[in-house]
Amino acid sequence: MANIVFIGLGNMGRPMAANLVKAGHCVTGHDQSAGAMDAAAQDGLTITDAPDAHFAAADVVITMLPNGAAVLDVWTRAAPLLRPGALMIDSSTVDVASSRAAHALAAQAGLFSLDAPVSGGTEGASAGTLTFMVGGSEAAFAAGKDLLAAMGRRIVHCGGAGNGEAAKICNNMILGISMIAVSEAFNLGEALGLSHQALYDVASTSSGQCYALTTHCPVPGPVPTSAANRGYTPGFAAELMAKDLRLSQEAARTASAATPLGAAAQEIFARFADNGGRGTDYAGVIAFLRQN
Ligand code: NAD
Repeated sequence: MANIVFIGLGNMGRPMAANLVKAGHCVTGHDQSAGAMDAAAQDGLTITDAPDAHFAAADVVITMLPNGAAVLDVWTRAAPLLRPGALMIDSSTVDVASSRAAHALAAQAGLFSLDAPVSGGTEGASAGTLTFMVGGSEAAFAAGKDLLAAMGRRIVHCGGAGNGEAAKICNNMILGISMIAVSEAFNLGEALGLSHQALYDVASTSSGQCYALTTHCPVPGPVPTSAANRGYTPGFAAELMAKDLRLSQEAARTASAATPLGAAAQEIFARFADNGGRGTDYAGVIAFLRQN
C-alpha cells in the first residue's frame, strides 16, 4: 500500500482522498482551508498543516487544485523533497502549458509524473466512478494506474505530458457547445409552441441525442436527476464551465486551431457566470439565452 500526500481537499479532492483511504492506502491530506481539512479528517486521513514535512517519505503526491498557479506552487515545493522514482499526479483541470511545466519540474527531480484530470463530477468522485484522462510516459502510467483505479472506473492513457489536460478541455468544449445547442433548441421549441417533453422524446431518440440533453437536460421534467429540477443548484457550476472553455481557447490560440463555436461558447458562459450564473449549474444557461 502506498504512502500518499494529497493536496487540495475541496469538493472533488476530499471524496477522492477518502476512496484512497478505503482502498487501504496511508493518506496524509492538506488544504489551505482549515474548514476543508476539518471535514476531510472525518474520512480517516491524517491531516497536516505542514505538508512539506511529509514529502520525503511519500511514494505518491496527488494535487487537486483550482488552477495551474496553485499546482505549480505545490509541485515546485514538493519535487525537490521527494525521493527519486516517486510519483506525482495532478488531477486538477489546468491549462496545458502549466501541466507540461509541472511535468518538467518532476522530470528534473528524477520523478515519475502524470496529469490525470477527471470527468464525472462530485457524484463520480464520491462513488469512485470518475473517468481519468491521463498524460505522461508509459512508465509513469504503469506506476499510477492502479491508484487511479481506486478513485475511478475508466482510466484512459491519452499520450505524453499534458495530453490528459488536452483531452479534458476538448471534451468539455464539446459539452459547453452542446449545452448551448440543446438550450437554444428548447427555447426555439417553446417559441413555436412545442412542449419540452415532446422535443425531448424526439431529440433523445433522434440525431439530436447528446449528453447535455439526456443527462443534464436544461429544462425541468424529462430527466428527473438534472439540475433543472432542483433550481439549478450545481452539479457542475457555470463558472467551472467558463473556466474550462477559457482553457480551451487559450490552447486553441497557442496551437493555432480554429474553434469558432468554442470561442462563442466561452463568451456566452463567461457572460452567464458574470451575470448571475456563478454558483448555479451550467445548465442554467438556458434562462440566460432566453433573455440575451
Ligand atoms: P474546490 O474549490 O472545491 O477545491 C479546491 C481546494 O483547493 C480548496 O479546498 C482550496 O482551499 C484548495 N487550495 C487551493 N490552493 C491551494 C494550495 N496552494 N494549497 C493547498 N490547498 C489549496 O474545487 P473542486 O470542485 O474540488 O475542483 C478541483 C479541481 O477539479 C479544479 O481544477 C476543477 O476544475 C476540477 N474539476 C471539478 C469538477 C467538479 O464537478 N467540481 C469536475 C471535474 C474537474
